[in-house]
Amino acid sequence: MDVKLINKWLRDNHFDVKVIESEESEYDHENQIIYFNSTEDEEITRDQVRYFKRRGLTNYSKKVVVFLHELGHSQTMDDANIFNQIVDKVLRNILYYSPTPNRTIQLLKYYLYHMLPLEKWATSWAVNYMLSNKEEVSVLEEIFN
Ligand SMILES: [Zn+2]
Repeated sequence: MDVKLINKWLRDNHFDVKVIESEESEYDHENQIIYFNSTEDEEITRDQVRYFKRRGLTNYSKKVVVFLHELGHSQTMDDANIFNQIVDKVLRNILYYSPTPNRTIQLLKYYLYHMLPLEKWATSWAVNYMLSNKEEVSVLEEIFN
């Protein structure tokens, strides 16, 4: 992944955010930075695939989805939803640091995580963006592949 190209894409599309390659994919709202892991293969559950499909999205690359989800945070998070930000952070930490003894618990955690309001908003923003900005998304696909 070429971080420079992604940052150029963000500028070209008037997003006031920067991307930095990192171990974890995460959005830092205070500094408007997307930390992004381009090497790890993030999991997309069957539920999410179904959610995408219901919205008319069948052809997408996982990396683009994950990246646009992080970008979605920057577009849906503002100081007005500080309460959601705190709830999200606390629950995220609980899910992240609690033990994961087996695959069922792992999937359950993943499912709960994506039910958090901020996560739902970010994913929904990403899906809408993909549906209405096909050209921009295909440029992004080229950068990632
Ligand atoms: Zn998220």
